Amino acid sequence: MHVAIVGNGIAGVTAARHLRKLDSSVRITLISGETDHHWSRPALMYVYMGHMRWEDVKPYEDHFWPRNRIDLVRRWVTSIDVEGRQLHLDGARTIPFDKLLLAVGSKPNKFGWPGQDLRGVSGMVSLQDLQAIEAASVGLKHAAIVGGGLIGVELAEMFHTRGIDVTFLVREHAYWNHVLPAEEGDIVGEVIRAEGIDLRLETELTEIVDDGTGQVGAIVDSKGDRVEVGFVGLTAGVRPNLTVCAGSPIATDRGILVDRTLVTNVEGIYAAGDCAQVKTPEGHRDLIQAVWYTGRMMGEVAARNLLGASDEYDSGTWFNSAKFFDLEYQVYGYVPSAMAHHQLPSLAWISPDRRHACRLVETEDGKLSGISVLGIRMRHRVCERWIEEGRDLAYVLAHLREAMFDPEFYRRWDRDIVAALSGKVAA
Ligand SMILES: Cc1cc2nc3c(=O)[nH]c(=O)nc-3n(C[C@H](O)[C@H](O)[C@H](O)COP(=O)(O)OP(=O)(O)OC[C@H]3O[C@@H](n4cnc5c(N)ncnc54)[C@H](O)[C@@H]3O)c2cc1C
Repeated sequence: MHVAIVGNGIAGVTAARHLRKLDSSVRITLISGETDHHWSRPALMYVYMGHMRWEDVKPYEDHFWPRNRIDLVRRWVTSIDVEGRQLHLDGARTIPFDKLLLAVGSKPNKFGWPGQDLRGVSGMVSLQDLQAIEAASVGLKHAAIVGGGLIGVELAEMFHTRGIDVTFLVREHAYWNHVLPAEEGDIVGEVIRAEGIDLRLETELTEIVDDGTGQVGAIVDSKGDRVEVGFVGLTAGVRPNLTVCAGSPIATDRGILVDRTLVTNVEGIYAAGDCAQVKTPEGHRDLIQAVWYTGRMMGEVAARNLLGASDEYDSGTWFNSAKFFDLEYQVYGYVPSAMAHHQLPSLAWISPDRRHACRLVETEDGKLSGISVLGIRMRHRVCERWIEEGRDLAYVLAHLREAMFDPEFYRRWDRDIVAALSGKVAA
């Protein structure tokens, strides 16, 4: 059997590795237009900032692929011939397959802004984006970033380390408030401003202005301000990459539609990672999970199912982490954002210096729904266990110390949190 995998990100590569582990005879072809070899996308900023070299962000040595008989093809897939079971690639090449995995990742959102295709305008997702940002940084004095979130703040930090001024436009009234509760969003906004970034909340991009040579020269925002900039970073979120499905019968919605076994509506064709939209039972929102660890989990499930199993994907208790300059953030389980329609009862503690915070959220029947922390590290396994065991907030506070993970000699915050919140927990 020949399995073709489109995309050499974490989902595609995990699937390829597990296919080989499980079956020594299956033929595996891994195709990507972006790079010859798999690399760690979350490490992109560290390459720019000089903390890591390009070689350091490739998790596997180049000899790993031939040794495991995984054929690498560096090409863009232009279309899928579902009936004829073959892929069309640029350069007029075709690759036949028996089974196919689409692991084509995300694309940065663009909202049709005037000037969005000028030179000096880029997202920050691919190696090519990194190269464009690197090239634009030479002699750059001022950059604009459009869209709050994790990638926007990373780009702001990158420019900041090179002394490039940043004007940062964020449509919402608090930072990342479709994910963070309002108070945490405010703290993150304060941290970004304290670094000297010109963060403009409730401000949208109106136009990117051509300097007369096809290169960005300035931006105009929704408040009518014009800022002279030499680069614009578009970081207003990402969406599943559906391009490869165009003209094929593979069903798509916001993502490539798959059931829990990750199969699409076409037998033998699967999707995994950022590009997949996993259908859920009636009344629940389908899952589109654009994070590293879920891509890896989906890749494993896809590998087993490509070989004939019918395992169901289950991401378990949600986890995410991020860094806003030096401020670390972690969330376990469900903590409603400022914008969530359905708020749940929660207890929040914020340190007097506003650089540490902890929030415990309760389900309607009094069980722990989620925990989030800023400037504090917690033990993943402990938080996950409390949520899975349905512990109540009184139990969580009584055992909070078990979850604290701050390194030795760092101030521990559990006593402050317990002292502030214990009196507020229903007996
Ligand atoms: C800057 C940045 C920082 C991030 N930081 C974090 C983090 O800290 N933690 C976290 O959990 N997640 C983070 N993420 C998200 C995480 O990187 C993604 O969720 C993950 O990489 C998705 O993996 P994937 O395999 O689904 O897709 P991708 O890694 O996007 O890989 C898809 C591959 O398919 C290729 N491809 C697409 N179309 C075609 C085609 N037609 N033909 C050939 N090849 C094609 C693409 O070029 C790409 O190489 C970050 C993302 C970015 C951009």
